[in-house]
Amino acid sequence: MAELKCAVENCMYNNSDCCCKGDIMVGGMRACTCDDTCCESFREQKADRMTNATEHPCRTISIDCEAVKCVYNTNYKCYADHVDIKGCGANDCRETACATFKER
Ligand code: SF4
Repeated sequence: MAELKCAVENCMYNNSDCCCKGDIMVGGMRACTCDDTCCESFREQKADRMTNATEHPCRTISIDCEAVKCVYNTNYKCYADHVDIKGCGANDCRETACATFKER
């Protein structure tokens, strides 16, 4: 399980840089740089959709990942000790990225 820090504050799962979703999916099958990746679990927080999704912030999280060219990826699982997700103010998951991505 990776320690996760997420800068995407307007995601419905974000609580103080922690993710409350429990597990996430990182996309980017052909990624060669971190900007080719994205957090596919991102859901934009909508004012009319206040939920209790942020009740259980976790510092560590299980990450399924499609970015097979990353040094931390084994069998579509992330084995990095720490992962940073960037994309503050994103409106769509394509505007997020795994800043920890490192090409093999
Ligand atoms: S660090 Fe690599 S393996 Fe882990 S989530 Fe990011 S891109 Fe995927």
